[in-house]
Amino acid sequence: MATKQFKAESKRVLELMINSIYTNKEIFLRELISNGSDAIDKLHYRSLTDSNIEVKQSDLAINIEIDKKNRNLIISDNGCGMTESELENNLGTIAKSGSLAFKKENEGNNLELIGQFGVGFYSAFMVADKITVESKSLDEEKAHKWVSKGIDGYTIEECEKEGCGTKITLHIKPDADEEKYSEFLEEYKIEELVKKYSDYIRYPIKMEVEHEHKKEGTENEYEKVKEIEVLNSMVPIWRKKKSEITEDDYNNFYTSKFNDFEKPLKVIHTSVEGQLSYNALLYIPSHLPFDYYTKEYEKGLQLYSNGVLIMEKCADLLPDYFSFVKGLVDSQDLSLNISREMLQHDRQLKGIAKNIENKIKSELEKMLKDNREEYETFFKVFGTQLKYGTYMDFGMNKDKLKDLIMFYSSTEKKLVTLKEYCSRMKGGQKDIYYACGETLEKIEKLPQVEAVKDKGYEILYLTENVDEFTLQTMMEYDKNKFTNVCTDKLDIDTAEEKEELKKENNEFEDMFAFMKESISNKVESVRFTNRLVNHPVCLISEGPISLEMEKTLSNQLGNQNQLKAQTVLEINKNHPIVEKLKTLYKDDKEALKNYTKILYSQARLIEGLTIDDPTEISNLICELISK
Ligand code: ADP
Repeated sequence: MATKQFKAESKRVLELMINSIYTNKEIFLRELISNGSDAIDKLHYRSLTDSNIEVKQSDLAINIEIDKKNRNLIISDNGCGMTESELENNLGTIAKSGSLAFKKENEGNNLELIGQFGVGFYSAFMVADKITVESKSLDEEKAHKWVSKGIDGYTIEECEKEGCGTKITLHIKPDADEEKYSEFLEEYKIEELVKKYSDYIRYPIKMEVEHEHKKEGTENEYEKVKEIEVLNSMVPIWRKKKSEITEDDYNNFYTSKFNDFEKPLKVIHTSVEGQLSYNALLYIPSHLPFDYYTKEYEKGLQLYSNGVLIMEKCADLLPDYFSFVKGLVDSQDLSLNISREMLQHDRQLKGIAKNIENKIKSELEKMLKDNREEYETFFKVFGTQLKYGTYMDFGMNKDKLKDLIMFYSSTEKKLVTLKEYCSRMKGGQKDIYYACGETLEKIEKLPQVEAVKDKGYEILYLTENVDEFTLQTMMEYDKNKFTNVCTDKLDIDTAEEKEELKKENNEFEDMFAFMKESISNKVESVRFTNRLVNHPVCLISEGPISLEMEKTLSNQLGNQNQLKAQTVLEINKNHPIVEKLKTLYKDDKEALKNYTKILYSQARLIEGLTIDDPTEISNLICELISK
């Protein structure tokens, strides 16, 4: 029989596994048990909805067997099993979606990703040098056997197997200096691991355990007796009393159930009684799921009806802006037999979804209030999603989210909320000021930012594409408008300053018209400004589209982007360059024309925009230097 090769990605993961980047080898058992439990869930659910499938509930179980002599650890379940092609697809390939990202990101940073890949099964290669999977599917007549010794590949052939389900035989590696693999053939070790990681599994995990018993009819003679024991307590964690659950329980449940390697940032466990009764166990991950911003990422919570899994990812239970939340909902009020389509319209479900949304929101608000550091950690990871939430759907949810979003503050040098900003606004400050740029450092250096800071105002620094769209959707916070310091809407001058500036701008109207023409009317106008302190020039935008928005739109739409910012070239009224310009306007118009081109290009560069004709500008500068 020909040995089949693993798909390339799988090979790489296997290599990583086998070379033990995973320090915690013992988790393999948890992974295999969870798979078994999932398989029984699937069978159980199908039996409830398909009268042709008969299942005796009390028989459903996971069995563990130790065969010390042959160094085998055997884990079997009587779940739905796998067909030949499922064996091939599930065990011959690893979750395809992530493979690319994995290859790219994982060099040198192996640890974090493994658990996120649905590679649970492969972890068994950390302790086994040969794995045999015998499986009979509910949907196939014949049973099949998959055998692999690791990287070299695997074989699949028909085999005999009674009843559907899966039997996995791990041939445990020989002991090595650094690792005593034989431990995994000891009853006490297996008992310990099941208690530690799989206690909540809802089906009995059975193993034959040897006990010493007093021999009947004797005083103190003992004999060894083998008995089948159930190793786990079987109460699903979400149905236990909160007081009985430790932090470790919650975290272990999360890492095993939701394929994450790191413990979650926050656990939300809630049970609601009343018209709608349900238990919900929700987790906020501590890092971005590896595929979060890909099409493959599916939001949703697991949905249980009275302890039976009826849907793996119920998207309707989570709004998009909380799509990073993982977890499950168990309710006795949902009918088991309803189809997915019907679920979508189910009033009960909508009610639960609403409650869950509010619960997540209030927990986040609480975190913000009571544990600022934790909230900032959260926001750095998932803040973008909340900002998208504010601006999506025409701002429908902006009021819900407005107190959860944060921006970097020029004065506080950290993330602040809009409420905090407003509470610090100075007397006479009209608006909430913000500035946009690629990085905090670049914004800090923007000429337009200088004057606003000079007057003692706090500025929010916006570095993400979505930021300005978010503020524009919100329009105001607490009746305070948002104003981009790089637009003509900025209004921080006193009445006298304005008056004086206006006079001077009128006086030099002709010169400005000439300068505007020198740069082929690429700006709406040229004028003096008070908004600059040290820099000679800046570009500001007029109208609804700011320069940052134009950049974002152009990135997204390319040349098709018709939405351009209308710009004004502003010249620092108090800069020595002003006198020079005035003189040139009188004496040397040709030079003024060239200098205007240079100044305009400088202003564009400062904004991170490109120059139309860099060669011309370069030549002009060289000319100046060689003068
Ligand atoms: P994950 O469980 O994270 O999806 P695994 O590598 O552990 O990833 O398993 C891959 C797939 O193989 C599972 O999603 C499931 O479809 C199938 N599978 C694994 N173990 C079993 C089992 N005992 N019974 C039925 N199917 C299984």
